[in-house]
Amino acid sequence: MPAVATRSMIQRGIGDDRVCVLTFDRPESGANIFDAATMSELSEHVDAIERDNSLRGLIITSAKGSIFIAGADLKTLLKQAQTGELRDFIAEGQRVFNRIAALKIPSVAAIHGACAGGGYEITLACDWRVASDDPATRIGLPETTLGLIPAWGGSTRLPRLIGEDNAAEVILKGKLYSASEALKIGLVDEVASREQLLDAARRLIGKGKRPAAKVSPSKGSTPVPSDPKSARARALGIITTGTANPVDESLKLELDAIADLGKTESTQNLIRNFFLAEKYKKGSKQFEKVAHAAIIGAGVMGAGIAQWLSSRGVTVILRDVNRELLDRGLASIEKTYADAVKRGLMTEEKARHGRARIVASTAPMELRDVQFVIEAASEKIDLKKEIFRVLSMQAGSKTIIATNTSALPVSELAHCTVSPDRVIGLHFFNPVSRMKLVEVVVAKETADGTKEHALAFVRQIGKLPVVVGDSPGFLINRVLFPYLLDAAELFENGVEAEKIDNAMVEWGMPMGPLRLIDEIGIDVTVDIATTLEKAYGRRDRAPEILRSMRESKLLGRKSGAGFYKYEGREQFPNESLGQWRRNDSAKHDIDLANRLMFLMINEAARCIEEKVVESPEDADYGMILGTGFAPDRGGPLRFAEHFGLDKVVEEMNRLARSDEKFVPCDILKKHSREGTKFYES
Ligand code: NAD
Repeated sequence: MPAVATRSMIQRGIGDDRVCVLTFDRPESGANIFDAATMSELSEHVDAIERDNSLRGLIITSAKGSIFIAGADLKTLLKQAQTGELRDFIAEGQRVFNRIAALKIPSVAAIHGACAGGGYEITLACDWRVASDDPATRIGLPETTLGLIPAWGGSTRLPRLIGEDNAAEVILKGKLYSASEALKIGLVDEVASREQLLDAARRLIGKGKRPAAKVSPSKGSTPVPSDPKSARARALGIITTGTANPVDESLKLELDAIADLGKTESTQNLIRNFFLAEKYKKGSKQFEKVAHAAIIGAGVMGAGIAQWLSSRGVTVILRDVNRELLDRGLASIEKTYADAVKRGLMTEEKARHGRARIVASTAPMELRDVQFVIEAASEKIDLKKEIFRVLSMQAGSKTIIATNTSALPVSELAHCTVSPDRVIGLHFFNPVSRMKLVEVVVAKETADGTKEHALAFVRQIGKLPVVVGDSPGFLINRVLFPYLLDAAELFENGVEAEKIDNAMVEWGMPMGPLRLIDEIGIDVTVDIATTLEKAYGRRDRAPEILRSMRESKLLGRKSGAGFYKYEGREQFPNESLGQWRRNDSAKHDIDLANRLMFLMINEAARCIEEKVVESPEDADYGMILGTGFAPDRGGPLRFAEHFGLDKVVEEMNRLARSDEKFVPCDILKKHSREGTKFYES
């Protein structure tokens, strides 16, 4: 058998100055990562370095254009977490890094590009760190955002380097820092230009071994995370007690923590989400970049979309029939840009260029050259139909016409145009600048090419697309509404607003359902529920109290009061709603979170059954992106499987005895009966 030529992951070179340079350069890949093979190769290089008494120093660097070392290979990590082998892999990494730390010669990490997690932990085992000032250089320890902790010495060595409180900030936030920020915090010792990086590293070798520093103990300024078993709590425990321990003891705590965390469903879900994000970012088809777009309607959504596109290099024609509303739209665009500059997310120059890409007008404008038109006018079918009829005449022969409708049938709009095959839904979420998801609504008339082009466009502008069918509520609102409306019904029946909201926040939602209704607006909620009820019946019926609130102009946050009263930064339960409530709360003395969640699970399952989405990942990840659904629960279907599908069905059947909306759908019953699942593994 011919020998398989394997290229090594790390090159070792020794210069005339007897400085050994280890260059990470994973073959056929833009990134360096730590998998078992790389770790074992590193270990062999360290053997050789330990044996060579002629060496004066060690430099660790990377040959990649934008990555130093991106961290541990998460695929291996997830697999090992599932099979219980994680501990061995991490222990091996600790041993190799410890040997680097124990070398008699000085060592320097020369960092250019992304240096994250394990990629930064190897540099912590070195005496000195120098980073390139290139924007590609991003340094940090994001493990806790994946439900893990830095366990290759990061939780042990960082507090010894920059003090316990600073280390807690870096590790618990999990943020990546630019070179200059990293220098300020002490994550690196020097910053140099990319060209000078190795020279700077050689100079640092001249400083010899790093003298041991006195550790600055915690002043207790970091709030202790509420869940003592969470990754953040475990990390904080090690950071604040570990420096009193010898390094070996602290490393053992790291190992115990990561082995425990790896076994949990929530950590595995967070790692899965990471892969899903990668998957949804990638498209298979290449299209020429969209350079020009038009947006019809400059309201909340139209202005938000215009701002987003312009910030991503697309020129935008923004049209509205109402001058005043157009000006208000422009003012809100201005504010979004100003806020981004103020928060350091964008330079003033970039904001200026962005703003300049928008041309706003109340008069019809030439649309032949725009590749996409996005209609974001008021949610009225006749108005939209007329807009589509006219647009279809004004647009070029290849222009794709998209609607941002929340609930109207895309197909009906397509039929008003001369080329229904070039019509699609692009459902952005509010606020556009913060919400990553776009539902790409494929009507039966939509051509495959239109769908592919729309997907590429959504990815081009840095959003994540989920393809959904053209049925009422698409995916997100359809799954969300039975849950929101049941929360309102529970409230109507006497359960306190804070009790409901707190139950869901504790469960992991970013915001309780009644607060969310207040944000959406009571009027908009009733409108959407009315559309959904026509299609799906009882489970989308808005309780009377929502209608009463609407009539009394209690519209939620925008009117100053809804389920809560909003006064400046203060908010408290709105006592005036008592007149519309009953006192049946004892009837609902059950696990609120489960009850509410069952409705979401049922609806997500129906979306699979009716092929509104293609896969359970689409339903789950869509809900995480579109609503902030507890990421560590992995989405409604993933949670249902963890809970047990037979248990879900059993409890729903029990609830269904008093309310038909809990009757489990067929696919749930089938899975429960046959012991099958939505996910294969
Ligand atoms: P909005 O009321 O803030 O803005 C609608 C704008 O359309 C107004 O400025 C109005 O003057 C303009 N308009 C009306 N007729 C027009 C015409 N013929 N030509 C050009 N402009 C016209 O509404 P919005 O909240 O921005 O919603 C717009 C669309 O986006 C709706 O279909 C809505 O369902 C959908 N949507 C809204 C949200 C949300 O949270 N607000 C989220 C997702 C989708």
